[in-house]
Amino acid sequence: MRILRRAGYRRLTPHKKSASPTTSGRSRITAMPPRERVPVDTDVRWIHGAPSPRRRHDPPLQVHELSPGTCLIRQSKDLTFEAPFILLLLGTERALLLDTGAVDGTELRRTVDRLIEGHAPAGARDTAYGLVVAHTHGHGDHVAGDAAFADRPRTTVVGHDVAAVRAHFGFTDWPAEVVTFDLGDRVLEVFGIPGHHAASIAVLDPTTGLLHTGDTVYPGRIYVEDPDALLDTLDRLVAFARDREVTHVLGCHVEMTGRPGRDYALGSRYQPDEPPPLMTVAQLAAVRDAFRTVAHRPGIHRFDDVVFCIGEGPRVVVPLQARALLERARWLLGRSR
Ligand SMILES: [Zn+2]
Repeated sequence: MRILRRAGYRRLTPHKKSASPTTSGRSRITAMPPRERVPVDTDVRWIHGAPSPRRRHDPPLQVHELSPGTCLIRQSKDLTFEAPFILLLLGTERALLLDTGAVDGTELRRTVDRLIEGHAPAGARDTAYGLVVAHTHGHGDHVAGDAAFADRPRTTVVGHDVAAVRAHFGFTDWPAEVVTFDLGDRVLEVFGIPGHHAASIAVLDPTTGLLHTGDTVYPGRIYVEDPDALLDTLDRLVAFARDREVTHVLGCHVEMTGRPGRDYALGSRYQPDEPPPLMTVAQLAAVRDAFRTVAHRPGIHRFDDVVFCIGEGPRVVVPLQARALLERARWLLGRSR
């Protein structure tokens, strides 16, 4: 508890100890007291790569302020086909950076420093204002920039495995327990969402109603590592989102095209027709319902908003790699669409 207090954490009553039953028969914690909801500015055209190597012109990072103190950052497809989204949330005492992207370099560090300098309250700027670098999960395209933050003053870089995540956020009942993390006048809620990766977390910012689901739910290919864990995770995500009046569900990538059920090829460097990275709670529920129908059938399963890739056998790998090779050839020839 000493560590929890020092780091600004408060733990709410675990689900199992609450007296307030839900319709599903589970118990739940009391939602954080509602604050005035800040609208999210979704009017942005994200950088989306180039149709050929010669026509690359995107900046390494694009920053869009979703709301005051809520910055969504995208890494360029010119640098990495993963083009992950990285979220920076700023409170009055500290900031939380969720992921460091797929590129090992100092560009993100410089950008985050600049954003903190611009947003941190006067007086805290040079003295006590802290930064926690945590991760939606531990895959390489979400942690590659960690090293650039290792020597940053007043900065904690959280480890990538379940033990490190549990210890840092103070979980005693992983993954279902909902813990809080206070950035200073901005109390986030955090819980475990294994299924894509064992150490995946979801983060709710009650200020905006934004629920960050990492690679677990996003408009793209959801790679399933543990189907049973993901079934449970999706049930908890849907129940939580409805309980908290979530406004947007944010993922780390976009891989779908504008056509329902059609994704860009793995490794695609050009996605001119991609949807935004924000989904609705209705879409989240549809993703949950869809996964229930295919959870134990290894292979590739297409639905309107997502494509489930279950298992790592040839039924999944061969078609993905074949399309990836074809798209790579098209891109090199300047014929990417
Ligand atoms: Zn991942």
